[in-house]
Amino acid sequence: MKLPIYLDYQATTPLDPRVLEAMMPYLTSEFGNAANRSHPFGWKAEEAVEKARNAIGALIGASGKEIVFTSGSTESINLALKGVAEMYAEKGRHVITSMAEHKAVLDTCKHLEKQGLEVTYLDPTRTGRITTEMVEQAMRPDTILVALMWANNEVGTLNPVREIGALCHQKGVLFFSDATQAVGKVPVDVEADHVDLLCLSAHKIYGPKGVGCLYVRRKSPRVRLVAQIDGGGHERGMRSGTLNVPGIVGLGKACELARTELDKDAAQARELRDYFEKRIFAELDHVALNGDPEHRLPGNSNLSFSYVEGESLIMGIKDLAVSSGSACTSASLEPSHVLRSMKVGDELAHSSIRFGFGRFTRREEVDYAIGEVVRAVRRLRELSPLYEMVKEGIDISKIQWQSGH
Ligand code: PLP
Repeated sequence: MKLPIYLDYQATTPLDPRVLEAMMPYLTSEFGNAANRSHPFGWKAEEAVEKARNAIGALIGASGKEIVFTSGSTESINLALKGVAEMYAEKGRHVITSMAEHKAVLDTCKHLEKQGLEVTYLDPTRTGRITTEMVEQAMRPDTILVALMWANNEVGTLNPVREIGALCHQKGVLFFSDATQAVGKVPVDVEADHVDLLCLSAHKIYGPKGVGCLYVRRKSPRVRLVAQIDGGGHERGMRSGTLNVPGIVGLGKACELARTELDKDAAQARELRDYFEKRIFAELDHVALNGDPEHRLPGNSNLSFSYVEGESLIMGIKDLAVSSGSACTSASLEPSHVLRSMKVGDELAHSSIRFGFGRFTRREEVDYAIGEVVRAVRRLRELSPLYEMVKEGIDISKIQWQSGH
């Protein structure tokens, strides 16, 4: 077994060797510019790009013509939100989103507010979900866009996308979903799910970094966007710049594999995740699950270990590559905005760890991870006076702490 063990599949994923193999010719001999129509180098590159477009379309129930290539989800989100806001400025100036979205959505919404738009930030439920009723109540005659993620990157909670999409279509409001964490893990069908705009990113589905796309619906309704990167008019004028052919080929191959292996991947991730949680809950007390026990990504497990500080725990499990919800890498020491939006108390938020299981996770690695987590949590709790008091039956919430002078 190779250490450290990678259990951070929501942050990024390793490149599938089959994806690398598909990309190789386009990094070497097939180096043509896909926009070049005058010789075989260009034709071959264009052919490869079109094949990738169709593979992405097949994964999400779209036509290849509805795919706009970008550098990844962050760019796709910027294009979708800013592009719609500019294009439909006459129709309305109101956008609905949620506090649990990725920063790429939240910060783009902040930008829109500076441009004079009004944004409603819905508060999710305690398990991180947005309900159709919340969206309906927030809708106004001037609402032009609802932007809600398919699956949350921290807690894995799945939103009721199909119902929200149906509501949006019924009300004539565009619906954008950030499906970065969802594609390849749960079924996504832009038709059945009534989605008008959707982003995905290759590096979350065993493809290369720095490439992704935006799906833009072409009929019922036909969605129009103002480009955010101007230039040679590539991607039907929506995103200029010479296409990243090897990256796009990799994204296409990753989507093809995601489609054919979705059931297998999801079943394996779920089995390992459930096994992990079952054993952690059996061996440790005072562990809480963050997220929705029912509506959750198969490979995600976000747990809070009371009386243990997340960053100390991460230091204590050095052989495991995982993420903490306390976001202590930033200068602020602020706990995760997602856990905050779900009203998880600061203490539990600070003790949260996200474990991610994926295509290349092995059972023996999970066994090792369980051993490491149990050992580290027990050791840290031995040092915790609070945990001692709880063990002795003292209700620490009732303690009146004296302030020091
Ligand atoms: N949205 C979600 C839900 C994500 O998890 C991520 C990845 O961190 C992004 C957007 C940004 O994606 P990218 O790294 O492709 O810019």
